[in-house]
Amino acid sequence: MRVNFGGIVHVSTVDWYGKVAMVIFFRGCPFRCPYCQNYALLKGENFVDAETIEAEIKKAKKFVSAVVFSGGEPLTQLEQIKRLANFAKSLGLLVGVETNGYYPGQLKELIDERVIDKIFLDVKAPLSPEKYEKVAGISDGDAVALVRRSLEVCKNFDMEVRTTIFKGLIFDGDDIRAIAEEVSSYGEIPYILQQGRPEQGWSEELKQYGPPSREELLELGKIAKEYLKNVRIRTKELGEELV
Ligand code: SF4
Repeated sequence: MRVNFGGIVHVSTVDWYGKVAMVIFFRGCPFRCPYCQNYALLKGENFVDAETIEAEIKKAKKFVSAVVFSGGEPLTQLEQIKRLANFAKSLGLLVGVETNGYYPGQLKELIDERVIDKIFLDVKAPLSPEKYEKVAGISDGDAVALVRRSLEVCKNFDMEVRTTIFKGLIFDGDDIRAIAEEVSSYGEIPYILQQGRPEQGWSEELKQYGPPSREELLELGKIAKEYLKNVRIRTKELGEELV
């Protein structure tokens, strides 16, 4: 089996809170978020054999307790994820998936087949088509319904929801209120506000604002906390903190 491969971070402590994980990046994504840090992976081909990646997972097993599939959007390569997830689990590793929520059917398959342990789901903006499509850089009209379906599919699974905060795009307290309120309607789900780093993305417009400060994230976190118990912020300076 061939994998359209984006790269590997062999040891990460920031992708899965409390765990040391290997992160495997897949190519391809239907979104075009203006802040995307991995824009080089959105298109193009770099096919490698699944065995090559399995060999890397085997080597990393000494140092990590989990494997996280990321991208791009990893669910564009469902069969490849299933194979690599099953391989990682056969070595006793936990498996997580970072997803933009565009593929609820694939998420359901992974949950039903018990090949993953954790889902990290982006809810990038309030779930209204106009706002979502601006932040996700698309105009296909399906994204909001698909993200809602992903929340529904994953609500009883081990999931955390993430929003990445960028001044000039998604920074308004009312937007965070709308997201948190909607997420809370699916249950008591951990919610993470991530510090966006515009200097690492491709949008020149966003770069003029600089990243939101820890204090600004805390203020937004307090708004989310009106709806959800487990709210955290994630900053470059201090990592993850409970609000
Ligand atoms: S969903 Fe993720 S990988 Fe895809 S464009 Fe947005 S930030 Fe980039």
